Order: sequence, then structure tokens, then C-alpha cells
Amino acid sequence: MIGSDSGDVWYKSTCHIDQSLWGATAKRIPNLQVLKSDIKTDVAVIGAGFCGLSTALHLSEGGFNVSIVDAHEPGWGASGRNGGQIIPGLKIMPNEIERRFGKERGRQIIETASSAPSLVYELIDRYGIDCDLKTNGWIQLAKGPEGSKTINSHLNQWRNRDVNVRALNKGDIERLVGTSVYQRGLLDSRGGNLHPLKYARGLAKACITNGVSIFHDSPALAIENMEGKWLVKTNEGSISAEIVVVCTNAYTGNMLPTLSQSIVPVLTGVVATDPLPEELNTKILPERQTVADTRRLLSWFGFDAMNRLVFGSRTNSQIESIDVTNFTFGIRRLHEIFPQTKGLNLKYIWTGRVALTLDHVPHIHKLADGLYSGLGFNGRGVAMATTFGKILARHAQGKIEDNEFLPLSPVKKVSFNRFKGGGIAIALTWKRMMDTLRP
Ligand SMILES: Cc1cc2nc3c(=O)[nH]c(=O)nc-3n(C[C@H](O)[C@H](O)[C@H](O)COP(=O)(O)OP(=O)(O)OC[C@H]3O[C@@H](n4cnc5c(N)ncnc54)[C@H](O)[C@@H]3O)c2cc1C
Repeated sequence: MIGSDSGDVWYKSTCHIDQSLWGATAKRIPNLQVLKSDIKTDVAVIGAGFCGLSTALHLSEGGFNVSIVDAHEPGWGASGRNGGQIIPGLKIMPNEIERRFGKERGRQIIETASSAPSLVYELIDRYGIDCDLKTNGWIQLAKGPEGSKTINSHLNQWRNRDVNVRALNKGDIERLVGTSVYQRGLLDSRGGNLHPLKYARGLAKACITNGVSIFHDSPALAIENMEGKWLVKTNEGSISAEIVVVCTNAYTGNMLPTLSQSIVPVLTGVVATDPLPEELNTKILPERQTVADTRRLLSWFGFDAMNRLVFGSRTNSQIESIDVTNFTFGIRRLHEIFPQTKGLNLKYIWTGRVALTLDHVPHIHKLADGLYSGLGFNGRGVAMATTFGKILARHAQGKIEDNEFLPLSPVKKVSFNRFKGGGIAIALTWKRMMDTLRP
């Protein structure tokens, strides 16, 4: 047996997806079943977020028989809770990628990560996914001299690789974003934004159309190797498969403890207003790009299709509570960036877990023969987890070249994960202090 759930309640959450703006504005997928029998398939995928759904979709396109189990429902994890920002590239920048992985491999990693948004656009187009897609770029903003230096370096690194990134000065930012808090920024033409839960459910529907079986409320509780085949056991059924791909990211539980301890699952809070009145609507992000800043405790924001402002930042504590008192840090940031929003009703409040890795790079693992995993998207999973799905599908088919994209890496436990919420809280306090001292 590779892993079994020890009975913890990791897949439960006090914040249900329906409490989010996205849950309130996306249609459910009808007629999903709970796995209640013993079935056979070529590939079993655990977790129906962007990563698992994209893996299944790409495998189904290659003619494979695929089944997915999710502890809840498609998009229930970070994929249905995020900011919908389609961000090109990895968290680490191209020069650093080449330094770590060498020129040739580095170039391939940069190209794949750089074109990750295009894969999202392609899938949306190919399967007619209705998810409020906008492809008019992604904005990154910085405060203070250190932040401006970071933005200038990003601009140089992308321009050296012929990417269309536009520098933004304070005046541009005031016009394009509607705030005077930031001094420097960039507009990256590759990026865009979408309604994340509509996208996740759209991928799920595309999978179903291609013959993939998706089971909801069916947490995988154990993975066993049975004479060369894998058996994924759930409460009421099982899947026998040649290959298993684990796509549970920040919601990986005790079934695979080493995997769950290879990332730092940081709780992030999101608030959304009612539709903004016209005078704010036209001043804040009039062209409707989405934005993230470069602060250590970053803030990010954008709009939904009904002109509701969506704003995300760290929660006050790592305890999963959606009480407004857990969001005062983020709400202060919202009012600092957009003082005009003070007094607006925050109709929706929700949380989600972001999977961070200490090397700031997502990880692909071969946990055993025929058992793969991909996780650790460092807050960039809309494009990157979708891309990982395509890459994992190639691994599952044994079709990947040795030097293609990120190498398979060993699963390494993050040592301060042992401290769980405590360790994360100390790191966040340090980051908050540094944001104040050296913005
Ligand atoms: C608040 C927030 C904002 C973010 N904003 C952005 C953004 O704007 N842009 C961006 O690019 N990225 C963003 N991210 C990151 C992005 O959402 C994630 O990287 C991405 O969704 C990860 O997808 P995934 O499929 O790997 O994992 P998830 O979507 O988390 O899916 C994991 C799934 O696994 C299931 N699961 C877990 N254990 C089991 C089990 N044992 N059996 C069965 N199922 C199981 C869960 O129910 C869940 O559905 C954000 C994340 C959060 C939390």
C-alpha cells in the first residue's frame, strides 16, 4: 500500500465553495455520481481541479479511458476559489530559471510556462467553455524603490525574450487601475482573466463529453498496488487502473503524508463587493484587467462580469474561518488601495489554500511506477495547473522526452511544515513587517 487515509478530516472545510462569489454565480454540473462500485479504467485521477481535469481531458483526447474521483466536486478546491488571473510564467523569473536548469532546458521551461495562458485559451475555445474570459493582459504593480526595481527587472527579462510587456508609470497606473498607491508596473499582454469555477466546471463537462467518468463526494482513502495495477479505494467503491495521477495540491491530506508535507498550504482570503456604482466602475480597472502586486504579502484584485470587485490577500490567521474579523488585514489593504470603496458592502467572503513550494517552482513527481503527481503552483495555477495536466498526461502515456519541461523531482518534506499553522504564521508576520519597512 502506498498510502491510506488515517481518518483526519482534511477534505472537509468550514468554507464551502457555495459561499464564494464564484459558487453563487456558476451553474452546477447535473447528474454527477458518487463512486459506489468497483470499476476498471486505464488511468485514475485523484482530484478534480484544473490539474486533474486537464490531465483527464488530455488523456481522453489520446483515446484513454479515464476516471476521476474528487472528495467534493469539480472545482471545489483552489480551482473554484481563486482570482481567475491567467498569469504567464513561473513565480521565478526567466534568468533564474536558466541559472537553475541550464540554458537549453531553462529555455524550454520558460517557453512552456510563457505559453501556459495560450493553452487555457485554446481549451476554452476548443470546448466552447463559457467562463467570462478576457484576454486583455495581466498587470503587476509595485510600491517603493525595491518593488520598482523588481518590476524593471521583470520588464527587461521578458523584453530580452521578445515578450510584449508594457511598462506602467504612476500616471498609467492611475488611469488603468484607478489607484495612486503604486509607483511602477507592467502590463503583460499574454495574461487574462476568467471566472474560475465556470472554467473548472467547463473543463469537467468537456471531460464528460469525451467519455471521462467523474465521481463527486468520493474521497480516495487508499492507494494500493495489486500485482502491478493500482487500486484506488473510496468509501463505497474502488478503481483499478494501470496509472494513477494525484492532483490534490494544497488539499492533499494524510493519504499521502510525505506529498502533503512537500508543500506549504497557506490560507488566502477573498472578499467580493456588490456590483459597484457607475462612478467607481468606470474609475477602477476600466479596461478590466486583473492585478497582483509584488509585496511579500501580496494583494490581488479584479472584477467579475457583473462589476463586483474581487479582492484577495492573506487572512489574519491560518485558522479557516470566514468571519469578517479574520479578514481585517485584507480589508485594510483594499481600503488603502481604493479608499473610495470604504463603506461598500462585502457581500461574499471566502478562503482557499495556496500550495507554496520553497523553491518557488511547481513539482512533478513519479511516486512509484505508474503513480504520478503534480502540485505546488505558488498561486499561479490557472494557467500552470492546466499546463501541468497536459504534461502529466504525457507522463502517464510514457510519451514525454527526458528534457521536456520541468524534471521529475524527489518528494521532499518541507521542514517547517511540521509547525503547520504556527510556522506559517511566523513567516507571514515577518513578511508583513518587511512590507512595511521595505515596500
Ligand atoms: C484564494 C486563491 C486565489 C488564487 N488566485 C489565483 C489566480 O488568480 N491565478 C492563478 O493562476 N492561481 C491562483 N491561485 C492558485 C490556483 O487556484 C491553484 O494553483 C490551482 O487551482 C490548483 O489546481 P489543482 O487542480 O492543482 O488543485 P485544486 O483545485 O485545489 O484541486 C484539488 C482537488 O483535490 C480534491 N482532493 C483532495 N484530496 C482528495 C482525495 N483524497 N480524494 C479525492 N479528491 C481529493 C479536492 O477536493 C480538490 O477538488 C489561487 C489560489 C487560491 C486559494
